[in-house]
Amino acid sequence: MKTKGKILLFTILSLFAVTFFTVIGESQQKPQTAEQKMRRTSDTQTKESQMQMTPQTALDILKKGNERFINNVSLNRDLQEQVRETAEAQYPFATILSCQDSRTSNEQVFDLNKGDAFSIRIAGNIVNDDILGGMEFGSKLAGAKLIVVLGHTKCGAVKGACDNAKLGNLTGLLDKIKPAVDSIPMSIQPRTSKNEQFVDLVAEANVREAMKQVRDKSPILKEMIDKNQVALVGGIYSVSTGEVKFLVTD
Ligand SMILES: [Zn+2]
Repeated sequence: MKTKGKILLFTILSLFAVTFFTVIGESQQKPQTAEQKMRRTSDTQTKESQMQMTPQTALDILKKGNERFINNVSLNRDLQEQVRETAEAQYPFATILSCQDSRTSNEQVFDLNKGDAFSIRIAGNIVNDDILGGMEFGSKLAGAKLIVVLGHTKCGAVKGACDNAKLGNLTGLLDKIKPAVDSIPMSIQPRTSKNEQFVDLVAEANVREAMKQVRDKSPILKEMIDKNQVALVGGIYSVSTGEVKFLVTD
């Protein structure tokens, strides 16, 4: 009886130990899901992948990247490997014009690889001749299939334009946002930076104004857009949620 009891106790303890360490082991090293395994692959653009890219697939990549960003499952990249992969050439699929706001970096917002997109950043994501030149380089010479104008909520430059702020060279920059301020119906009051709804309406109007200028002031890009070689889209990034809402255009 005594020996049988010892054997029974040993068996119970062994089973307990096996179960315990299995549970601990699993919690420390869960098997990777297919999605997690995919997250580890480095996928920089090549000449071939850029040639196969369409404006729609380029937009889909950005949408999926932003979805990963807001769900906190951004890709786990070996950036040094990507540096080596892109050392000889770049084959970006998009040009993104966005604000210089410290919260809105395109690479994070769209969870991009090195070499995925040209990033043009300036306060209030305004358009001028030099910026159009950068976009023309991106699409006509470097093969990017998509142009994004990305504004954002609570934009300081837009607020400055709403309040008619003046400061050195900033004054001229803010003047470029004024048409957007003026385009908002007078029924929206008060028309100052204190009114968050007004500020965000101006930010969206400012994106549409920039898109209009791309078409109006760059015959090169207009032709590419009209021939569906390139798509021009606008969006607003929320500094509160991290989500990019692409604007509906006609
Ligand atoms: Zn801004």
